[in-house]
Amino acid sequence: MRNRVSDVWFVPVKNNPSKEEVAQKTLQLYQAAKISSILDKGDLVAMKMHFGEKNNTGYIKPDYLHPLIQALKAAKVKPYLTDANTLYRGERSNSVDHLMQAYAHGFGPEAMGIPVIIADGIRSKSYEEVSIDGSHFESVKIANDILHSDALLVLSHPTGHGATGLGAAIKNLGMGSASRSGKQNQHSDVKPKVVRKKCRACGLCIQWCPVDAITMVDGRAHIDEKICYGCAECTATCPFGAIAVNWEGTSQALQEKMAEYAWGVVKDRLNKLACFSFLIHVTKDCDCVGRAQRPVINDVGILASFDPVAIDQATVDLLARAARKDLFLKMWPENDYNAQLSHAEKLGIGSRQYELITIGD
Ligand code: SF4
Ligand code: SF4
Repeated sequence: MRNRVSDVWFVPVKNNPSKEEVAQKTLQLYQAAKISSILDKGDLVAMKMHFGEKNNTGYIKPDYLHPLIQALKAAKVKPYLTDANTLYRGERSNSVDHLMQAYAHGFGPEAMGIPVIIADGIRSKSYEEVSIDGSHFESVKIANDILHSDALLVLSHPTGHGATGLGAAIKNLGMGSASRSGKQNQHSDVKPKVVRKKCRACGLCIQWCPVDAITMVDGRAHIDEKICYGCAECTATCPFGAIAVNWEGTSQALQEKMAEYAWGVVKDRLNKLACFSFLIHVTKDCDCVGRAQRPVINDVGILASFDPVAIDQATVDLLARAARKDLFLKMWPENDYNAQLSHAEKLGIGSRQYELITIGD
């Protein structure tokens, strides 16, 4: 169980910072927060991140990480970049495509000096069932090469999200470390529908649906409810907002399930866990969206903490302060992000109470 008040270190950045500025400030946070205190010589350190879908531009840039990786090497640990495969079609649903996409975005071993390991195997069959005592799950399916690392650095790019309101450290851990079957379990309550009058028959949703649940019927997309398992990718993909989800209670359940998966990842390693969140190029949808998105607010800064709940709460608060409104609730009022924070806190992942320690200027 965590302390009641967690420390969150914060370094501001100017709008559109250079990659060098972000890289140096990330290192500054590593040093100020004494992240090396959780590392032991020889540790295999998973740097859990999101390599960005093809054509997305919001993801954490490889150049941000070079000084951090050098510092980890100087601490005599063995870092590797990692993520698990996605549920939806796209460039990251199996390890071969996923690796190639990571390389295309500049995360190749030659550029980074460390390997990329897709944590759940080529077809996402490499996972372990971790027992938890959750309200939704008794066990969760966590990608092996994240679960069996010695220490975990959670590198998150906070964004809004069409199904969970907020996608940040808790989501990076919970959804991002799940096997594809685990991701499917989390989405089981989501049931989208096509709003026929808005559909322009572009066919994009058909390309992205992982289970061929969508066909064109009478010139409009149609979802077969018997096949659909609620991954919600079609809602994020449709450029015309023609696929709606009746959220009534579903977002809350999805967020709670996601927090339970995050608990499965961290419950036995709360002392070997640190998080960084980059409040840079914050967008309405997440980095799974395969197109460039405009930021919804000026860049704010970078955060570090040992507590995923505290860092997400600080993310929400800092962006609300900058936007002069609750940014995520304003973007996604039907998907109140508070569900993931409160359930994660209840499970023991961390605390929503934090002290913000601002460094630099
Ligand atoms: S129709 Fe169902 S399974 Fe297919 S993309 Fe949409 S939510 Fe996912
Ligand atoms: S992506 Fe949207 S507009 Fe295009 S076919 Fe699907 S529902 Fe219709």
